[in-house]
Amino acid sequence: MNTPLLSLRDVTVGYRATAVLKDVSLDLENGSSLALLGANGAGKTTMMKVIAGLLRPWDGAVHFRGEDITRLSAEDRSSLGIALAPEGRGIFATLSIEENLQMGALAVRRRFGRGQGRRMMLDGLDQVYNAFPVLAKRRSDKGCNLSGGQQQMLAIGRALMARPSLLLLDEPCLGLAPKVAGEMYEALVSLSDAERGVIVVEESSRRALAFADRACVLKLGRKALDVTSAEAGEDDRLIQAYFGIN
Ligand code: ATP
Repeated sequence: MNTPLLSLRDVTVGYRATAVLKDVSLDLENGSSLALLGANGAGKTTMMKVIAGLLRPWDGAVHFRGEDITRLSAEDRSSLGIALAPEGRGIFATLSIEENLQMGALAVRRRFGRGQGRRMMLDGLDQVYNAFPVLAKRRSDKGCNLSGGQQQMLAIGRALMARPSLLLLDEPCLGLAPKVAGEMYEALVSLSDAERGVIVVEESSRRALAFADRACVLKLGRKALDVTSAEAGEDDRLIQAYFGIN
């Protein structure tokens, strides 16, 4: 069997004395996508933080391409190719769209040197502007002048500029009108890459299942269900697990 891109083994973690994730294990294959579902407070963002290195597990381990990264910092994980587009966006309000995107490519420029790094950054800009044409049109506008949907596109674009092999998207459609959310997922599909794994936290199981290969439902910090999207579509256990119905 191939080594999974990402592997969580029996991860337990929380805040202060309260455990939020309990014994959670998960594998993600290279080039595949996973939707992380669950009610408010189930632990989805906490799981993204554990993967990105913003929170260190109390117990258990995280492996990336077979290497134990449990004790690596967020910065080291980003150098390995793990990028998080956080919930709440976190873009630089006083920088332009293009400057925000360039910030996302800093690590690439450091890794590949000026010449190749610069070419890769220009390629990245093309890719992001093709997927999100509105960002191209407004490339000189400051982050603070963008709508919520545009800020979210920029946060995703910035994460992509780092050329990640694992992209973590925390609620990319939070607060967006259904039409804009639909456009967001069209763009995400157009950005799919056989060399990249994606984990997306979603509040809409319908959108999530249309996009991702697999769905995992967290319930009170434990994995309640882990199925392919095709199985989930025919399986009302998804709805039961998602809404906490036994
Ligand atoms: P939502 O859909 O509301 O974002 P979620 O599934 O992403 O929910 P988490 O954000 O992971 O859930 O939170 C899980 C639990 O941990 C919640 O009870 C939350 O109140 C708690 N929690 C999250 N962040 C912190 C923190 N920094 N300090 C203390 N408790 C926290």
